Amino acid sequence: MAGGGVRNLRVSSKADLKRQEKQKKKAKSGGFESLGLSSDVFRAIKRKGYKVPTPIQRKTMPLILAGNDVVAMARTGSGKTAAFLIPMLERLKQHVPQSGVRALILSPTRDLALQTLKFTKELGRFMDLRTSLLVGGDSMESQFEELAQSPDIIIATPGRLMHHLSEVEDMSLRSVEYVVFDEADCLFGMGFAEQLHKILMQLSENRQTLLFSATLPSALAEFAKAGLRDPQLVRLDLETKISPDLKLMFFTLRQEEKHAALLYLIREQISSGEQTLIFVSTKHHVEFLNVLFKEEGIEPSVCYGEMDQDARKIHVSRFRARKTMLLIVTDVAARGIDIPLLDNVINWDFPPKPKIFVHRVGRAARAGRTGTAFSFLTSEDMPYLLDLHLFLSKPIRAAPTEDEVLQDMDGVLSKIEQAIANGETVYGRFPQTVLDLVSDRVRETIDSSADLTSMVKTCTNAFRLYSKTKPLPSKESIRRSKELPREGLHPIFKNVLAGGELMALAFSERLKAFRPKQTILEAEGEAAKSKRLQGPSSHWVDVMKKKREIHEKIIHLVHQQRSNNNVEKEVECETSSKEKKKKEAGSKRKAQSFKDEEYYISPVPKNHLSEAGLSVRANGEFGSNRLESAVLDLVADDSAGMQRQKSVYHWDKRSKKYIKLNNGERVTASGKVKTESGAKVKANRTGIYKKWKERSHNKISFKGTSGEEEAEEARGGHGFRDNRNRKFKDGKKQRSMPNAHVRSEIKNLEQVRKERQKKVNRNAQMKSKSTKGKRSGRNGKRGRGK
Ligand code: AMP
Repeated sequence: MAGGGVRNLRVSSKADLKRQEKQKKKAKSGGFESLGLSSDVFRAIKRKGYKVPTPIQRKTMPLILAGNDVVAMARTGSGKTAAFLIPMLERLKQHVPQSGVRALILSPTRDLALQTLKFTKELGRFMDLRTSLLVGGDSMESQFEELAQSPDIIIATPGRLMHHLSEVEDMSLRSVEYVVFDEADCLFGMGFAEQLHKILMQLSENRQTLLFSATLPSALAEFAKAGLRDPQLVRLDLETKISPDLKLMFFTLRQEEKHAALLYLIREQISSGEQTLIFVSTKHHVEFLNVLFKEEGIEPSVCYGEMDQDARKIHVSRFRARKTMLLIVTDVAARGIDIPLLDNVINWDFPPKPKIFVHRVGRAARAGRTGTAFSFLTSEDMPYLLDLHLFLSKPIRAAPTEDEVLQDMDGVLSKIEQAIANGETVYGRFPQTVLDLVSDRVRETIDSSADLTSMVKTCTNAFRLYSKTKPLPSKESIRRSKELPREGLHPIFKNVLAGGELMALAFSERLKAFRPKQTILEAEGEAAKSKRLQGPSSHWVDVMKKKREIHEKIIHLVHQQRSNNNVEKEVECETSSKEKKKKEAGSKRKAQSFKDEEYYISPVPKNHLSEAGLSVRANGEFGSNRLESAVLDLVADDSAGMQRQKSVYHWDKRSKKYIKLNNGERVTASGKVKTESGAKVKANRTGIYKKWKERSHNKISFKGTSGEEEAEEARGGHGFRDNRNRKFKDGKKQRSMPNAHVRSEIKNLEQVRKERQKKVNRNAQMKSKSTKGKRSGRNGKRGRGK
């Protein structure tokens, strides 16, 4: 017995040790698990489809979670938004009704702010935090309404935030504990500097401040010094990046077209004096390509894991001595060999992990040399491509389509060159004409070689197995890959574009999208008929014609219904998503509510909604200019675009129509809020908030810093409060409260005692009535419940 006990103890301590080791490993892994996040945040991260943190997330999140101020050098596409949202959600945890706004995120553009709002909702889906979006495009009044719901987080563009601060007399940012300046270089580039300083001054000393920026110009560095407390600077390790002298080319094609593309690259794009390393996924592919190249008159070196040591040495030394210019390898083999610096790397199969990509291309473009990494991409590789770019913190875009090039060839091409020069990755198609030509030739070569023919099958099977066993990309990248736009021809094949083939390519692209009205049977039959040939195909024409006569109308009807549905859905999405949410929230609340409809006094008047509805029309009250002047902000995604004036139509939720807006807002040094078009909105109070307040019987409450004020809010506000300087008898300031004008529903002791007494009397009355009724044989009237 005793021995068994000891054994058990030993077993359990062993299990404990194992568990501890596992936990240690997790903590060291640098994954999301190691951050010690609460389950609500962690679950949302997994639901969002993030598998591992991106480098910027890995570096910044522990610092932010520890409470540090951080300046992070990160671009869009690096995963920076989640890097500041996850610690924010972890800090805020849940909605605190009277605490005021606790987090503020400043974005340079309306688009970026919307994107951040979307991520906030997704990552905070298991939490009840409230977020308010203050950007141009939506009316001020609808934003007042949002602010009256006591949001925990505000996501804003500086111009619109300043507009609110100047308009709402009691708006304060003193309760904000967590501030993010997102794309700070753009914020500065847009001339918001002075306003950002002003916003800083309105914040409390104890806040945590984060600044995310792609670059760090001196003005921004000064701002960081002044506004951040002992900030930690985060940059990505240079070694995780690839050489800046390495060009990256990504070509989209189909798996079966890779042979043709490879041969074309080696013959036409890569000079014969350059050495190239070709990575494939399995040893069967190494062998296959070895034989294929030899058939084509090219002598490569090869190397794979299970290769005989002597053979391997011979192959590698021939490559090192530049007797061969190509070395075909697998990842396993490449690890163990000493390869000199090279000119090019070709990824025949796309690496399933970003680190493998970096490792593969690491030997090219070193020591002052330039080089190119060519990668083939099938549709399954696209999520991996996105994961790679998150890892590299590099933006990515599709090559312009042929139709786009046809419309403005010079403009489009120079734009794409500019993007490449700025370090963006451009991926594009391999020209189909080239692939078709070379593919025919490769097929002939394979068909005429028994070795190659048998190897094709082995390769296909090996590749299937490889695909099954390789690590999966992140779910978020899978989702994003489905939304990628259609790519045009890769700009490296510009000569194809210039060579007059552009029209043909554009036509062939359109052809791919074309759905014929006739079936192939009809088309063939028509052709036979025109040649006056009688036969089975002409018989089919009649059958199909009859079928079409019967079904045409139904098909047409279904098509019409479908398109109607789509339009309806779009309109619905635009207009009623918010209303729906409100309704849903309402119905949920109804289900849980314990209130007695008859006695319950609503904090908002019963006709509140109709009032609000009227107020839509009442916009005229302020003049139509008023609404438009409330429409600020810009739609632009790069700093160049931000500078450009751009008018777009935007769906205004309040007026339920599209309004033209000069997007973007800028605040001038004089304190005026200025739209991108240069139109100025008065930064001093115009009374728009006061009118809204009167109409909606609502108000916005922002918590200050004084303890008394907090306590007062917690107690609940009493009576109206119009003047922010109004003080209590004892000289302390009175705080504004949402619905402060509504009579408190909390009863004092005397009231409770009186009501109880009334109830007892009423019950006694009821009882005596019902006994009388029974006695007299009539039904007594039912008394009202409590
Ligand atoms: P951002 O740089 O914040 O604009 O993010 C770019 C894209 O990367 C967004 O679509 C994010 O949802 C996505 N993303 C951010 N973090 C991760 C991650 N850890 N894994 C996969 N995708 C991510």
